[in-house]
Amino acid sequence: MITINNFINGTFKAPASGEYLDVYNPSEGKVYGKVASSTSDDLEEAVLAAQKAFPQWSGLPIAERSRILLKLADLIEANLDQLAAAESMDNGKPVKLAKSVDIPRAATNFRFFASAIVNESSEAHIMEGEAVNYTRRAPLGVVGCISPWNLPLYLFTWKVAPALATGNCVIGKPSEITPYTASLLCELANEAGIPAGVFNVLHGNGAVIGQKMVEHTDVKAISFTGGTLTGKIIGQTAATQFKKVSLELGGKNPVVIFDDCDFEEAVSTSVRSAFTNQGEICLCGSRIFVQKGIYEKFRDEFISRVGELKVGNPQEESTDLGALVSKGHLEKVKKYVDEAATDGGTILTGGKQLKFGEGYFFEPTVIEGLDEYCTINQEEVFGPVVTLVPFENEADAIAKANSTQYGLASVIWTQDVKKAHRVAHQIKSGIVWVNCWMLRDLRTPFGGMKSSGVGREGGSEALRFFTEPQNICIKM
Ligand code: NAD
Repeated sequence: MITINNFINGTFKAPASGEYLDVYNPSEGKVYGKVASSTSDDLEEAVLAAQKAFPQWSGLPIAERSRILLKLADLIEANLDQLAAAESMDNGKPVKLAKSVDIPRAATNFRFFASAIVNESSEAHIMEGEAVNYTRRAPLGVVGCISPWNLPLYLFTWKVAPALATGNCVIGKPSEITPYTASLLCELANEAGIPAGVFNVLHGNGAVIGQKMVEHTDVKAISFTGGTLTGKIIGQTAATQFKKVSLELGGKNPVVIFDDCDFEEAVSTSVRSAFTNQGEICLCGSRIFVQKGIYEKFRDEFISRVGELKVGNPQEESTDLGALVSKGHLEKVKKYVDEAATDGGTILTGGKQLKFGEGYFFEPTVIEGLDEYCTINQEEVFGPVVTLVPFENEADAIAKANSTQYGLASVIWTQDVKKAHRVAHQIKSGIVWVNCWMLRDLRTPFGGMKSSGVGREGGSEALRFFTEPQNICIKM
């Protein structure tokens, strides 16, 4: 049994309450450890430690802060195998995915922002003959980074890296469902030379310790990634203090396949965009709209490719889909599939739980015969389930793509460049991929429209979020 404690002021500490939550290995359906259940007492201690560390950390020369964060990136890479194994055990994802995507990206997050701060410049606005204005961007102080369970270390570091790079001290709150790699990161942070108190991690139930972090008046900003309902609660709480928030929320992403697409690429990438990480990526395309002329051809080829995916032991290199993250989540996915069948949908492939011991496995599932307004096409399932829906023309595709409350990401498949621009400009989503998926340049703004979020992460957007601009006007 592994015990995962809080990390405060550079040291691992048992929670003040003495209480812990169970942590499961989803591919075995068994408890493998326990994680601290934090309360206000732990938060007060972490806030004090972070406040004490702030003057020194924010006052370090940028090159020195950058050097420490680059060392942390190197240490993540040096510990790739151990981190990937931990991520896979904790989340249920294939270890090959953790090794090739999650953990390398965590290292890249630190390397990217450590380099970004060295290359940052600020603006000057000159009033001819009168005055010069320059913009100073100062760190906020103590900030909170709250992350979900689907890409645990990848998304946690996507927030922590820019927060630290800009000179803030961090209180991180990883998901209580997948807390392990955030805890391993704390060991590496010490080894990299991050001073005590600069980076703290509190574990536990989101509605308890996460909520307390948002309420705390000395936590100056909250960067949150998670569900839309949680985001709403956080937004409401933060608003009473005019606290800065960045909210990266849920999605119901459309994939729009025109009949002039590169068929082979559209099919193979759509299988990836549907089922990578068991469909548990906020960017997965869960509603596939196919133009009528190629609908049957696409459907048959898509189903045949999905049939080749191997679901099973996440530790095996040949596994494509591992286990869903928890029993509760498996039940939720099953409920949506059952409801889709009741609503008149035809399950073309999959649709059932797979029995490997006590693990939480579910078949990759493809459903057709439902319109865009039924429950499964409106609500986020966040699992290995997609629907196929035919469309007539450009206008119909755009209307169907925009028919939910969400607006995170979308994918367009066409070889007509003009059409790609036209459609991209009319789809209400923060990210549009044309003829590709998950191609990520970390300098680009990342985030959603509508109920998918507020604010953007990535590149200079993240550097700006974690700093306060101050205009200084000097008379000439
Ligand atoms: P969740 O909202 O249940 O939890 C996310 C985090 O918030 C966890 O650490 C949780 O403990 C904490 N939390 C819960 N209640 C809180 C509260 N009241 N105050 C503060 N913190 C609280 O989400 P989840 O189930 O862990 O993750 C799945 C969701 O995340 C999906 O909706 C998915 O689309 C979304 N997601 C979005 C993105 C994006 O970039 N937009 C990326 C990944 C996941």
